This record gives sequence, structure tokens and C-alpha cells, in this order.
Amino acid sequence: MVRGVLFDMDGVLFDSMPGHAYAWAKVMTQYGLPMKESDAFEHEGRTGIGTISIFTQRYWGRDATEEEAQELYRKKTIVFNEYMSARGGEAPEMPGAADVLNKVRARGLMRVLVTGSAQQSLLTRLERHYPGHFTPALMVTGDDVRYGKPNPEPYLMALQKAGITADEALVVENAPLGVRAAVAAGIKTIAVNTGPIDPQLLLNEGATWLFPSMAALAENLDTILTNDE
Ligand code: CA
Repeated sequence: MVRGVLFDMDGVLFDSMPGHAYAWAKVMTQYGLPMKESDAFEHEGRTGIGTISIFTQRYWGRDATEEEAQELYRKKTIVFNEYMSARGGEAPEMPGAADVLNKVRARGLMRVLVTGSAQQSLLTRLERHYPGHFTPALMVTGDDVRYGKPNPEPYLMALQKAGITADEALVVENAPLGVRAAVAAGIKTIAVNTGPIDPQLLLNEGATWLFPSMAALAENLDTILTNDE
């Protein structure tokens, strides 16, 4: 029986991926590393240097040096910040996410946040958009982990914080590497394909359910939870 639902943040609770994808594609292409915005969605969750090296391997036949990676990542961050400040400075809520959270709460289930993001302002922002759903005790952020996704570590840590077993949890993820991390932690995973990637990539990583949006998940969540009881 499910006691808690573990939520990824970017691409699940907030529609933050388009800005990252725009910045990645623009800066990498400037450096002679042709990258499409959809590529950025496929690699979501990788470290900056990990993403950069996949493309330098492909086009330059070698890994990026530490200096190259730092410079590229710094420029990507500048372009991302410009993109965001032109749009009010903050990623919008993902449509349907509030409905999902409210349904989870109505059933008396825990909401646990599991994100690679390490911003100080995380809780304030969550509280402003999704009041009363998350507490610091039930959050795993980029500051807490050593390895991060696709390592199962963040999800294992979330189970520990919530005091539940993998069988008592469900994960909601949008990225293939996020699904890989959750499945490696032994947790049944709901994939929501909120970006432009081939949905098969999410199923290939072992997602148990697949929906095209958080709104579609909200419509089907009761069925999932009832069948799991
Ligand atoms: Ca994500």
C-alpha cells in the first residue's frame, strides 16, 4: 500500500525545462557542438560536464577539459538567466501539478520532494506555488546528495527521510535519467512526458505508467492509487 509520493521538481512541478533547453542549445551550437533543444530534455538530470562531454565526444572525439566545461557551463547559465528574466524571472507552475498534489494530500499520503536543484529559495518558492504540501524534513535537494540522479541515492535518501519502504512509495518523474534513478531504487515510477522527447525513452528506463502531462496524471491518479491498495 502506497504511503508516500516522491516528486521530482523541474519538469514535474515547474515548467522550467524550456529555458534550460534553449540555453544549452544556443551555447553548445556557438561552440561548434550542434545540440537541439530536445537533446537537452533527453539529458536532463546529468551534470553540466557530463552533458558537455557527450557532445565533445561526438563532435571533437574527446572529453571536454575542466576549463572548457566550466566556460561553457558559465555561458549557459548566463543565457538561462537572461531567458528567465525576460519572462518574469521564474518558471511557471506545471499545469495539472496542483491537482496531482491535492489528490495525493486528500488521500493522506506524504509528499516528498526529490530534486537535483540546490537553490536556497527552493522552499519559499514551493510554498508560494503549492502551499502546505512540502516540508524541509521531506525534501532531498542537490545539497543533500553525493551522486545525484541517475544514481538511486536521492530516492533511497527520500525513502529514509519519509520512513517508508520502496513498496510503499511511488515516484513522479519527467526525465529518462530520473526514471532510471527511481527504478534503480526499486520504486514504481510514473513518467510524465512534459517535454518533447520520445515517450519510449521513458518506458525503456522502466517506468510503470506513462502520461503526456501532469493534467493527464491528475485524471488517472485515483485509478493508480486504488489499484495499488
Ligand atoms: Ca525533472
